[in-house]
Amino acid sequence: MAKVAINLSTGSIQQEEVIVGIDLGTTNSLVAYIHPEDKKPIAINDQGRGTIVPSVVHFTQQGETIVGNEAKEYLTTDPANTIYSVKRLLGKSYQDLGEHRDYFGYKIIDDNTEGLVKIRVGDRFYSPIELSAEILKELRERAEHSLKTPVNRAVITVPAYFNDSQRQATRDAGKLAGLEVLRIINEPTAASLAYGIGISPEEEKTIAVYDLGGGTFDISILSIHQGIFEVLATNGDTYLGGDDLDREIINYWIKENELVADTINQDKHLSQELRLKAEEAKKALSSAAEYTSDIDGKIRCHITRDKFEELIQPIVARTIRSCEQALSDAKLTPEQIDAVIMVGGSTRVPLVYNAVSEFFGKPANNSLNPDEVVALGAAIQADILAGNRKDILLLDVTPLTLGIETMGGLMDSIIPRNSKIPTKAGRQYTTSVDGQVNMKISVYQGERDLVKENRKLAEFDLKGIPAMPAGFPKVDVNFILNADGILKVEAIELRSGVRQEVEVKPQYGLTDAQVEQMLMDSITHAREDVAARMVIEARTTGEQMVYQVEQFLKKNGQHLTEDEVSLTQTNVQNLKNVLTSGDKDTILKAVDTLEEQTSPFAERVMQISIKQAMAGKKIE
Ligand code: ADP
Ligand code: MG
Repeated sequence: MAKVAINLSTGSIQQEEVIVGIDLGTTNSLVAYIHPEDKKPIAINDQGRGTIVPSVVHFTQQGETIVGNEAKEYLTTDPANTIYSVKRLLGKSYQDLGEHRDYFGYKIIDDNTEGLVKIRVGDRFYSPIELSAEILKELRERAEHSLKTPVNRAVITVPAYFNDSQRQATRDAGKLAGLEVLRIINEPTAASLAYGIGISPEEEKTIAVYDLGGGTFDISILSIHQGIFEVLATNGDTYLGGDDLDREIINYWIKENELVADTINQDKHLSQELRLKAEEAKKALSSAAEYTSDIDGKIRCHITRDKFEELIQPIVARTIRSCEQALSDAKLTPEQIDAVIMVGGSTRVPLVYNAVSEFFGKPANNSLNPDEVVALGAAIQADILAGNRKDILLLDVTPLTLGIETMGGLMDSIIPRNSKIPTKAGRQYTTSVDGQVNMKISVYQGERDLVKENRKLAEFDLKGIPAMPAGFPKVDVNFILNADGILKVEAIELRSGVRQEVEVKPQYGLTDAQVEQMLMDSITHAREDVAARMVIEARTTGEQMVYQVEQFLKKNGQHLTEDEVSLTQTNVQNLKNVLTSGDKDTILKAVDTLEEQTSPFAERVMQISIKQAMAGKKIE
């Protein structure tokens, strides 16, 4: 049950409650808030466990969930049940992962569709949203425990390069953790706010935010004017970070001690020890000139800062090339950058700090803790949204989410609540049945996962889509909300150009009390809503799988053996039987079974048709 602070005399949502700021990181996460007395942001350190919570989730044999430092210890001893770097999977389809799918030590389900990835742990299937929610729940509990008050609202940060679907996934994770996500803001924007840049509406500045974390690097160039943060350019490498610096040290020690790399890889205990020592050495070298230790008195672990800098020089140079690229994309020179901000634990490495300061021709800002700066800025944004900063003008925002109905009666949000207006956003859809020529677009307003609980604003049919196989048409649905609060919804099929639009005024006939009630309902029903959404999504995946396999059998059945056909039919029937079970794990297990059994067929049929095509070709 989500806890909500309610003012008992008026029945309204308690206004003075704390709103926290959350940095949901790939490697580490943390939560911060504004101290009620000195009004300064501070990171929460519950029970002296430190402010940083490693973004690692471990599932125990007993079915319990552990998050943070304790979970991190299972990375080597029980990798299949220990999930790290889940942020990399948020809002991504299996196809998006491409060559990086082998990076993960746990099982990622390949349902071979454009659907979002899922992770299999034993007999349970988790979406990256659920796993991220576990981390957020832990942060929320720590905040509640430390502040001794319910925490229901938050601002969560995401990288500037996150797309709509990744941002929506982050919102959903917050919701599942029982948090009302007031706003999703960019990490570089948060870092800037933490340094007090962009708080005053009169300020006009162009800044660079350099963020080197555990496994990712990004550089963002922001233009700030009238309290608006505009991303001019981003660049980086989502597979480059502090872990790579550690690896350089490990390789150096392997060489120095004349160890064999393969033996180390096989010895889990030793490789883990080496990793821990290397990270310790790296951190020590950020302030000391030398590091000396050993492993079990046998392996000498010694390195000087000079040697370390020589080893990591190429990595640092790569990040500077990204800075160059970002600046050139923004059509700016280093002199035009007013301030440079350092974010992420790895910017503590002196060589990194010096290289960045030198490139931009000015000392970079690093006076705030680089691990905490994003969460601190998120807390400031939360405070602004709470209306606690009277000096800051709040821009007009949409009070409720605007979206459309998708498969199974689900709400797909296009413009999230609290977005500044005017704004526009869009998403691409396709058909689910071969030869489908019409598509119904139903526009809704509200926070619930099922459209039937939301307010319907408009509905129209996009007619005249040329008959094509399912999944081929590309229908762009765009929402354009102008400064007067009028929403224009347009749908265009890109291959044929057929187009249809409608205009509505979402706020028409809606009182503040109704808006408040809708928000309250979405919080109290969050859990059941998300659960219902996941069952519907699993069922939709299952239905599409059944449809695809049945079409395949019809067209290509002659290339399969009788046994293969009958096994496929059995597995299809099993899937059909569980579609209405209401249990997502049961459905996804049947999908996984059918997928694993039939996936070799597609390739075989392709080979046969290539051969036939070749044989049919007559060369004169
Ligand atoms: P993320 O944003 O990806 O979650 P963080 O910003 O928390 O990551 O950065 C984590 C990385 O910072 C790790 O690789 C860690 O080893 C590194 N780090 C932390 N402290 C130091 C230090 N004193 N010197 C060098 N690197 C450090
Ligand atoms: Mg970070």
